[in-house]
Amino acid sequence: MTPAMMHLLDVVRELHVADTRLSDFAPFPQDMHPDTLRPCEKPATKLAAQWPLSGTQATDAVVNAIRDAAYDAHWLQAYTEEEVGTDFINRHNYFELYGPSGAFRTNACRGYISYWGAGLNYGWHQHMAEELYVILSGEAEFFAQGEKSAQLQPGDIRLHLSNQPHAMITHEQPLLTYIIWRGEGLADLPRMSAS
Ligand code: ZN
Repeated sequence: MTPAMMHLLDVVRELHVADTRLSDFAPFPQDMHPDTLRPCEKPATKLAAQWPLSGTQATDAVVNAIRDAAYDAHWLQAYTEEEVGTDFINRHNYFELYGPSGAFRTNACRGYISYWGAGLNYGWHQHMAEELYVILSGEAEFFAQGEKSAQLQPGDIRLHLSNQPHAMITHEQPLLTYIIWRGEGLADLPRMSAS
């Protein structure tokens, strides 16, 4: 595990335990151990390393640590080009910081870092695990079945219930998030909703 990834975990832990909106959703895991995941470069690696915006006083340490750790992370894509299109594939990726298959292993809950470029439409999708989005930097418009849409800013959070379809659009700004999953279906991938 690289020093930059260790540092990222440390500042994510600091953010998480200091904010009861996060720690009430899921206590930060205590039982983690580093795995041997190799860095995996994807289109968002370079984009995250060059992240242009600041966050809030509370999120800036994580934003800076993501820039520094971008080339050490094992970046992933949950969808196929057929499902989401070429532009989405080229400007969105995520990595699992901690969780069942993360850089740091735990089955208590799951923490992702996720990047989206500006002007992307993340269509309706769902998953069994409950989910809390934490906006680190940038902004996006969030949609969820049965709820009003909301334009979220750095420091804002958004809860998605088990199997609640949700969607997201980035407008002028890109988006950098910390996403927490808890409960059943923890090791699953999200699925695009049937249309
Ligand atoms: Zn989700």
